[in-house]
Amino acid sequence: MISEKLHNAINEQINAELWSAYLYLSMSLDAEAKGHKGVANWFFIQFKEEQDHARIFMNYLNSQDVKVELKPIAEVPVKWESVLDMFKDTLNHEKKVTALIHNLAHIANDDKDFASVNRLNWFIDEQVEEEENARDMIAACEAVEGNKYGMYMLDKELATRTYKVPSPLATAAE
Ligand code: MG
Repeated sequence: MISEKLHNAINEQINAELWSAYLYLSMSLDAEAKGHKGVANWFFIQFKEEQDHARIFMNYLNSQDVKVELKPIAEVPVKWESVLDMFKDTLNHEKKVTALIHNLAHIANDDKDFASVNRLNWFIDEQVEEEENARDMIAACEAVEGNKYGMYMLDKELATRTYKVPSPLATAAE
């Protein structure tokens, strides 16, 4: 059985994952408005993956026989100076999410709740990947900065990113 403290903290985390989804949807729309369809595609896939993260936590709370309670999703920025700025904000945001996930792992450890520790390990690994992806994208944007042809080619490359469900854990309850 999951503790009330961890139950509440995971409910908060579901909100944070949905806020992340909303943030990346906003970036996708701003990229599209700027004419970067590939960047828009990259962020639209992020938008879907964040919803999967929320779903994994929802499935986990359901499996522990405690209720998911959705909270209002706070406003997100709607405009960025450049694509580089979007990826810098992405990295900063993902670092904050990593800290939130680590805090959940601390609570689960204190509770000696090994099932929750195990599920949170999936997220700990996922955050390493999220931060690495954002850093790679910052490096790519910096490499083409001020070069319109380079940005055109980078945008074409990002248009090829395809969505796949990050884990079978994200399957909606049937
Ligand atoms: Mg996430």
